[in-house]
Amino acid sequence: MNIAINEETLQDIINIETGLLAPLTGFMGEEDVRSAVSCCRLADGQVFPLPVTLDVPQEQFNRIGKNQRLTLTYEGRPVAELTAESRFLLTEEDIAAVFCTADGAHPGVRKERERSACRVGGPVHLIDRSYLTDALKPEETRRVFAEKGWKTVVGFQTRNPIHRAHEHIQRIGLEVCDGLFINPIVGWKKKGDFTQEAVMAAYSAMSDAFYPKGRVHIAGLKTQMRYAGPREAVFHAIIRRNLGCTHFIIGRDHAGVGGYYGAYDAHALARELAPALGIELLLTREPYYCKKCGQIVTDKHCAHYDTHRVEISGTIIRKYISDGYIPDETMMRREVFQAILGCNQIFIQ
Ligand SMILES: [Zn+2]
Repeated sequence: MNIAINEETLQDIINIETGLLAPLTGFMGEEDVRSAVSCCRLADGQVFPLPVTLDVPQEQFNRIGKNQRLTLTYEGRPVAELTAESRFLLTEEDIAAVFCTADGAHPGVRKERERSACRVGGPVHLIDRSYLTDALKPEETRRVFAEKGWKTVVGFQTRNPIHRAHEHIQRIGLEVCDGLFINPIVGWKKKGDFTQEAVMAAYSAMSDAFYPKGRVHIAGLKTQMRYAGPREAVFHAIIRRNLGCTHFIIGRDHAGVGGYYGAYDAHALARELAPALGIELLLTREPYYCKKCGQIVTDKHCAHYDTHRVEISGTIIRKYISDGYIPDETMMRREVFQAILGCNQIFIQ
């Protein structure tokens, strides 16, 4: 039987194939999904906080037999094979547990509801190997880190060009570790967000002008944003562990959206799961510019959060640039800003 899949499902398959989503070797079956939903672990006890599943139209789902071989097609061409070991329904309760809300306005909840509730799990194999050419592969990042002689590597997740708050956190990482791996999520297409070109240009400028040679590696990560807040923060840590990082930074409201998660909910979940994660976590507070201290700080070492704080965020900088203003140097380095302006396309349209 042929099952048509979309681009995001294809990306999941590529990421399973490369080992980016290890220990997964296929789409999760019912036992693993129920376990992940209830306690952020697979049935065998390994930490895995999110369901990664294949949705199938009901009519096809009803005809799939136990252990049937399915051919997954993308744009009409066969791209992967899956052995259907498990068939189950993803329930409203599952969705609410993953996103900590049943609110249909939450983008993650909305997206899950738009998919068929019929899910099929089992080992998956990518047939069309051409998709591996540009894929981010753990074996490659691990080789790069080894060649650089890094014993410790801190991973940094982002979707935005670097601003001074990110810089503050990255310098903490560089202080602690041998190398900094900047691993922006690329290839996603939310209108109004910075393009991959802008994010990469900003980081090259920062790296060239400010960071010591040989201490930073940059490569894009293709995966969908799931907006699952705390659970997604742990998911991001697992991906960076698989890529060879020894440390991972989780900041304020990591992978959050709107007001659905508390600013440091991701820290709390990460702390709970950290002993079994296989990667050290740097749990950082929100950096801001303090007009009294005269530098970028966090509330861990500055007493003026309520009185002298100037907020720095990707959202604020996006607005500045799209409105034609130059962000203050306390928010964004001039070299970085110039690099963004030099891009063919700054925002996704
Ligand atoms: Zn201060």
